[in-house]
Amino acid sequence: MATHNTRMLIIGSGPAGLSAAIYAARAGMEPIVVQGLQPGGQLTITTDVENYPGFRDVVQGPWLMEEMQAQAEHVGTRMIWDTITEIDLENGSPFRAIGDSGDEYIGDTLVIATGAQAKWLGAPGEADFNGKGVSACATCDGFFYRGKKIVVIGGGNTAVEEALYLTNHSDDVTIIHRRDEFRAEKILQDRVFANEKISVLWNKTVEEFLGDGANGLTGLRLKDTLTGEESNFETEGAFVAIGHAPATELFKGKLDMDNSGYLTVEPGTPKTALPGVFACGDVMDHVYRQAVTAAGTGCMAALDAERFLATQEFEKKEAAE
Ligand code: NDP
Repeated sequence: MATHNTRMLIIGSGPAGLSAAIYAARAGMEPIVVQGLQPGGQLTITTDVENYPGFRDVVQGPWLMEEMQAQAEHVGTRMIWDTITEIDLENGSPFRAIGDSGDEYIGDTLVIATGAQAKWLGAPGEADFNGKGVSACATCDGFFYRGKKIVVIGGGNTAVEEALYLTNHSDDVTIIHRRDEFRAEKILQDRVFANEKISVLWNKTVEEFLGDGANGLTGLRLKDTLTGEESNFETEGAFVAIGHAPATELFKGKLDMDNSGYLTVEPGTPKTALPGVFACGDVMDHVYRQAVTAAGTGCMAALDAERFLATQEFEKKEAAE
């Protein structure tokens, strides 16, 4: 069991964590990235990426993350394949964490980039057609369903926003919701009801995602929650929008979170209420949730961490004089 000391400990290796690492490494902070259970994050389970700037042609999510990791390593980041299981934030900087491997990590600053994961229904066929008709991100994948008959499953802000966004690509969008009213904000609901391209199927649950190897998703088997009656609904694209779960279990009781478990930061910054602890990417952002916004906030976290250390060093020097 080893102890790793660093000026910046980064937990998470998606676009947020790796962007923080690139900036920190180039500032000479010799960051350590503890990669977590899914090295590379959510992009490693997607296929085509067409909205990350810098690439003329479609790139593959796993490839993009490999490049980002190689870039971070090239400028001096240490990547460690481990998962943090314990963290001590009580005594301020330096922060101490313990990995699943038993190794100890001590960081003068801490960048939390543990991300979030889309929630899935768990119905049969959902995983089989993931990327072949089933998606959890309209902004990422809506473009691939241009002119097709699309459904969105859910009734919260995400579901209605995704449906509205998808009308840029399709004239036939149906929201399928398990109750007879949305949970989404009224203003968003009003926009949905006023949009001719969107229909709503109330009181329906998705029992099965239907399709085949050649065509991908072709439809859904639905169940009416009031009558129990089952029916098939034809569709080529299903967007599951039933919420996201941020990976913040480790920080419960230690850092401020909103009701959905997202870390709260000082507005417009990646600063948590604890000096020296920064949060970036999807773990603190339930609105945008894009690779490029995660990368942006990762950069901000590294810059703010650098300033934090500079101030701390200045104050120590002043006190010594
Ligand atoms: P929510 O938790 O608000 O909504 C989830 C929706 O999915 C609900 O309608 C829920 O149904 C439905 N659902 C959950 N589980 C199932 C299931 N197993 N089967 C069928 N339906 C299911 O999640 P959101 O992602 O919409 O929003 C998360 C947070 O982010 C919220 O606080 C939201 O306000 C915020 N947000 C804000 C935005 C903005 O400000 N522009 C944009 C997007 C999100 P039911 O209603 O019956 O419980």
